[in-house]
Amino acid sequence: MPKHVAVLAGDGIGPEVTAEAVKVLRAVDPTLEFEDALVGGAAYDDGGHPLPASTLDLCKKSDAVLLGAVGGPKWDHVEPAHLRPEVGALLALRAELHLFANVRPAKTLKPLLNASPLKGAAGLVDMVVMRELTGGIYFGQPRERRDGGKTAVDTCIYSVHEVERIAEQAFMIARTRRHEIVSVDKANVLETSRLWREVVSDMAAKNPDVKVTHMLVDNCAMQLVRNPQQFDVILTENMFGDILSDEASMITGSLGLLPSASLSAMREGGMFGLYEPIHGSAPDIAGQQRANPIAAILSGAMMLRYTFGDNEGATRIEAAVEETLDAGLRTADIFEKGTRLVSTQEMGQAIVTRLG
Ligand code: NAD
Repeated sequence: MPKHVAVLAGDGIGPEVTAEAVKVLRAVDPTLEFEDALVGGAAYDDGGHPLPASTLDLCKKSDAVLLGAVGGPKWDHVEPAHLRPEVGALLALRAELHLFANVRPAKTLKPLLNASPLKGAAGLVDMVVMRELTGGIYFGQPRERRDGGKTAVDTCIYSVHEVERIAEQAFMIARTRRHEIVSVDKANVLETSRLWREVVSDMAAKNPDVKVTHMLVDNCAMQLVRNPQQFDVILTENMFGDILSDEASMITGSLGLLPSASLSAMREGGMFGLYEPIHGSAPDIAGQQRANPIAAILSGAMMLRYTFGDNEGATRIEAAVEETLDAGLRTADIFEKGTRLVSTQEMGQAIVTRLG
């Protein structure tokens, strides 16, 4: 079966880090087929739109999408605003590809343990935050000003279907890990949270191989700092997930090394997904071979695991990244005294040679 990956390198450091991710993926699985397309500012400059129809078509017929990053000062003032890369490409891709689940692992890379704001072993975490991405208060209608602007209204809506489909993915992901889900809500106050809890509890009863517990969001925010090791998979709605995923990733201390996936419905063999580093296009260092490609490379590992069901290949990449850091190689953003400064390409190549 062909495994087709659309590569949207994008702007700024996007092309540099994506090239290294593709290099690593090719080395792990030579049967992957890659096809490049323009997105973001690069696409806008080329044809006047940040998400050309040909790029969207390519994504739709591929099994997975690897995205670098989009945007930069050059396109910040493009008018109309819906043609700016972040809106016209990123948000449009999420909507068009029905990417309703955002998956963000927060895993401390042991050689970088000192970067965690939590001291010592407390900073050693390995969890995944699963955030519902297309529902809840960010999308509910009405959203408006009333009383001549003196009152503001946002609406939070969730349906059983929306909760079920993301919970289903959380169960699947928990099965690739420690089989534990903490479902986070505010069921003591919010009706949408009570529905969320009911649906997740029903699904827990049908999936007894995964241990499911419930936690209120304020407690979760506290527990993430107090004892983050207790978490394996955190499953939560859009706004809570937005906040908790940032909190969880900061525990690792290295925002620039973190991958992410946005997933949609199951396809045969795996989930369709868009994989991207959580960092942006870093225009300040673009084109200088100073960018750290690890977040993009680890995004590639997530692609193998979730879209292509290749847990072993993903683990090989993760181990090679850790070995490379263990050997003391560092790009400029994580360089410290006593380590060896390398370029984007050198970091990518060093990881390839350690794939074993
Ligand atoms: P940024 O993540 O691009 O950069 C923040 C800082 O981190 C910069 O100093 C940068 O040099 C550094 N950095 C980021 N990634 C790095 C890497 N891999 N290696 C080394 N250093 C790295 O965030 P920003 O400066 O707020 O945004 C820049 C542009 O990126 C903006 O146009 C923004 O809209 C866009 N952006 C895009 C995405 C995306 O495409 N998903 C996400 C966030 C921001």
